Amino acid sequence: MTAVNLLDFDLDGLAAWCAGLGEKRFRAVQLFRWIHQKGERDFERMSDLARSLREKLAARCEVRPLVPISEHRSADGTVKWLFDVGGGNAIETVFIPEDDRGTLCISSQAGCAVGCRFCSTGHQGFSRNLSTGEILGQLWHAEHALRRQLALPAGERAITNVVMMGMGEPLQNYAALVPALKVMRDDHGYGLSRRRVTVSTSGMTRLIDRLREDCPVALAVSLHAANNPLRDALVPLNRKHDLADLMQACHRYLERAPRDFITFEYCMLDGVNDGLEQARELIDLVNGRGPAAVPGLRIPCKVNLIPFNPFPASGLKRSPRDRVTAFARELQDAGLVTTIRKTRGDDIDAACGQLAGEVSDRTNARERLQRRREVIPIHADPAHGVRA
Ligand code: SAH
Ligand code: SF4
Repeated sequence: MTAVNLLDFDLDGLAAWCAGLGEKRFRAVQLFRWIHQKGERDFERMSDLARSLREKLAARCEVRPLVPISEHRSADGTVKWLFDVGGGNAIETVFIPEDDRGTLCISSQAGCAVGCRFCSTGHQGFSRNLSTGEILGQLWHAEHALRRQLALPAGERAITNVVMMGMGEPLQNYAALVPALKVMRDDHGYGLSRRRVTVSTSGMTRLIDRLREDCPVALAVSLHAANNPLRDALVPLNRKHDLADLMQACHRYLERAPRDFITFEYCMLDGVNDGLEQARELIDLVNGRGPAAVPGLRIPCKVNLIPFNPFPASGLKRSPRDRVTAFARELQDAGLVTTIRKTRGDDIDAACGQLAGEVSDRTNARERLQRRREVIPIHADPAHGVRA
């Protein structure tokens, strides 16, 4: 039998588990702090816990780290880890240092079932959900490894921001995600404010509503198209949760969101979604105009344009730089705050959508076939008119 993994618990969960051992909540708090704040996994070294408790813990549980396969460092300071999660699956985690922050990009699943047309993880299919311990294991490993490598003074954190933008659709792994977010936010854990933890989703509207109730952190929505036929082709779940549905969910989320805007991510695909006409569709959509919008429903937002990171099986190309800037200018002229994402870690394949790991695709055969069909229907014509 595998021992209980203490990385699977948020603080309430750990307190309940400790109560089963006859221990008071403050003991669970001490244990939690040893694990997450000090990075300790040897119960013997948890010096302020009673010997009897240390013995009970050693007999019943462990702090189970992820098994790193490799660690790559980019010339720009980006670090990418590949972790073995068993069954032939590997996941990736990326640390992106900037002047004023250190951001960790975390995976939520081995593979992904959503199957977006432009995403390398999506092309691999879905293998399995990660456990809370595997989601947090990435943060635990990265934070404590970086503290040692960077020789940070005691109490100083390496990771100041977390984005759930690695492999997988985090909201499709909701039950494991929420306790992990709580540990990231807990003052006895990693102490990150709600604004510094971002969940990125391809648009699962019912689960956006649940997140708003259970743990409203910053939200990024991967939009990529502002009309339904094109979004249906790029992000298959749009057929179930269309743009009007999505805009309404974003609007509801804003009532409890830590920031007063939603971030829309938009991956720039050459000749597919990067024309000025599509920029105007996007402006209309977020202002509650046009065929895909909910009339009159305006969504305060920031738009983040992501240069597409190509991979051979996609058959798609990155938009030329001048088209990305023209698209950005069109949005900015209409009053939308727009940024163009810098690609980081290019030399170690650490950019968005390049996180491939190695996943044994257990998606059922019907879904795989359907995904293959979806590879066919996008055509870009020279004038950027799009038929999907
Ligand atoms: N499943 C979630 C989070 C993981 S993907 C989501 O889709 O939001 C994180 C971001 O990377 C998303 O915005 C996604 O659209 C983007 N992305 C995926 N493949 C990409 C690629 N090849 N190039 C650039 N961005 C990509
Ligand atoms: Fe999954 Fe996100 Fe990739 Fe789409 S972009 S396939 S939702 S990981």
